[in-house]
This record gives sequence, C-alpha cells and structure tokens, in this order.
Amino acid sequence: MFRRVILPFLLSLALLAGVSALFAEKQKTDAQTAGEQTVPTVVIDAGHGGEDGGAVSADGTPEKNINLDIALRLRDLLTADGIPVVMTRTEDILLYDRSVDYQGRKKALDLAARKQIAEETPNCLFVSIHMNSYPDARYDGLQVWYSPNNPASKAVADLIQNTAREVLQPDNDRQVKAAGSSIYLLHHLTVPAVLTECGFLSNPAEAAKLAAPDYRQEVAFTLFLAIREACEEIF
Ligand SMILES: [Zn+2]
Repeated sequence: MFRRVILPFLLSLALLAGVSALFAEKQKTDAQTAGEQTVPTVVIDAGHGGEDGGAVSADGTPEKNINLDIALRLRDLLTADGIPVVMTRTEDILLYDRSVDYQGRKKALDLAARKQIAEETPNCLFVSIHMNSYPDARYDGLQVWYSPNNPASKAVADLIQNTAREVLQPDNDRQVKAAGSSIYLLHHLTVPAVLTECGFLSNPAEAAKLAAPDYRQEVAFTLFLAIREACEEIF
C-alpha cells in the first residue's frame, strides 16, 4: 500500500522538478535572447553618391568616395565584432527609384530611400558619414550632429565626439550640435541618429590626411570604438 501511493508520488515530484528545471532553463535562454536583441543594428549611411558628389577637396576628390570608403571600413570593424550592420549604399550610386519620374527630384528620392532603410531596420542606430567644407580654409576637425527626436542620439554623438578627441584629434574642442531642418535625415528620423562630418575637405592639411587610406582607417576605428561603447552603455 505504502509503495503503491508513495512511489508514484515521488516519481511525480521528480518529474515536476525536471519540468521546473527545464522551464527555468528556457526562461534563461529567452532572457539571453532578449538581451542580445538590445544590441542595435547599425545602419551605416555613406553620404551622397552617383550624380551627387558632395563637397570636393582641393585635389578634386569628391566627398562621396571618402564617405563610402570610411563606411565600408566601419562596416568591416563592426561586423568582425559581432555588431549587425545594414548599409544604405555600398556602391557609387544615389538611391532613387529608376522606374519613377525622378527628373528634378533625385536627391529628394535618395534621402527618402535612406530614411526608409533606417525606419525599416528594427532596433536601429543610424550613423551617417560625411565630409565638411567651409569657405574659410582654416577650419578643421571632426564634428558630430545628432537628431533631436530621440534622446539616445545625443548620447551617441557625445561618445563619437569624445572618442575622436581621445584617440584621433587631441586638439579638437568641437561640441556636438543638434541638427536643424537643413539636415533632412536627422531632422526627420525618430530612431537614434547621428551624422559625423569626419573632416573639412576645404582644409588642405585635413584633406591630405583624408586622402590616405591609413588615416581613413583611423577615422573608421574611432567611429567603431564609440559605437561599440554605445552598444554596451546606451542600448
Ligand atoms: Zn555631405
């Protein structure tokens, strides 16, 4: 009698313990998966492209080429570190739909397409890469702009600006700036979004630096360090 009652009871207890352990394990796995999902997908946006060269350095190099080169280097660094990346472009093109009447609105369609890529990327951090230009050739230094529509944007911009000061340009005392309506993407995007003007093509010394692959790798590495820190601390 004792055996007939107790043994099944003990067996069901053991079974319950086993199920509980399995359930706990599953919960842990789910939490880990959820944790992984907080790492953002970095949408790297190489500014300009194709018909739109952007600013031009004294030796005639268009901004679009330097933007894309640094963007590809940044992609490789982030990917090697396990941070997911989406590129708005990997070629020398503007992103407008060739099947519509695009005359006179290539640039508007291009910006809308870039905005759409960011919006369609879940848990996105948008990082646009540009070069600066100014009539006065004296000005130099990396400058970060942030979207005012998401509080994480300024935090990411601060990390990039501060990292640039620490590892790339010790004398750079520029402060991050909130983007106004003149920077279409940052003005309209509601996801965390920053735009880095990596240097002034109008400054001959800085343009010469940016013409060197080693320096472009240093710029990409600076962005990588800041974005990796952002992934750990902000997202
Ligand atoms: Zn630009």
